[in-house]
Amino acid sequence: MAEGAANILIVEDERSIASFLRRGLVFEGYDVRVTDSGAEALSITRDTSIDLIVLDIMLPGDVDGIEVCRRIREAGDHVPILMLTAKDEVSDRVEGLDAGADDYMVKPFAFEELLARLRALLRRKEARSEAREDDIQESFAFSDLRLDTTTRYAYRGDRQIELTAREFDLLLLFLRHPQQVMTRELIMERIWGDDFPGESNVLEVTISNLRRRLEAEGEPRLLQTVRGVGYALREQSS
Ligand code: CA
Repeated sequence: MAEGAANILIVEDERSIASFLRRGLVFEGYDVRVTDSGAEALSITRDTSIDLIVLDIMLPGDVDGIEVCRRIREAGDHVPILMLTAKDEVSDRVEGLDAGADDYMVKPFAFEELLARLRALLRRKEARSEAREDDIQESFAFSDLRLDTTTRYAYRGDRQIELTAREFDLLLLFLRHPQQVMTRELIMERIWGDDFPGESNVLEVTISNLRRRLEAEGEPRLLQTVRGVGYALREQSS
């Protein structure tokens, strides 16, 4: 993930907050732009590639944060938007989410928490763009394994294999990243996301079920365990 290179636009008129955010995010490796104007935020979003917007609600001038958000969504732009509200006002928050914001934080906030939420929004954005690629690409293959994303069947050679929804998602993740070691954490986050069942062994069980289906006729194993790390889609080395 090229997460560190994401372009973040900060729309905030309070200079101390804007510069605190800019410093922190630049330090984290993000490309950061700052504006204190809602109108300028709209033109930046239109003219350049922005991966995420941190948007204060109360802005000087005619265009406040709510309006910025509304217009961006009206233009069909799904860029993740994290709203900042000055105080814990429920009406602000509701209005922000109604206008199409993805998340919000109440000032003052801890930078670490903002960072965690930005990362979550950027990951979701990436997952969505991968999902869109699936609309274009109808099948993925590795060795004698193939996955048809329209019928949702897997194949080993000519043998058709039925999959559960989770097994399908899991196999698709591996097929998008053949040969790569996928860590346990990354797989859990991508496939189970917010339903993350904590310490459970749901991943191990799903992998084991998937292997049973994929190897039912004695086919060689393709989903390899990488001890202490995770799993990889590869041919058996020995
Ligand atoms: Ca403000």
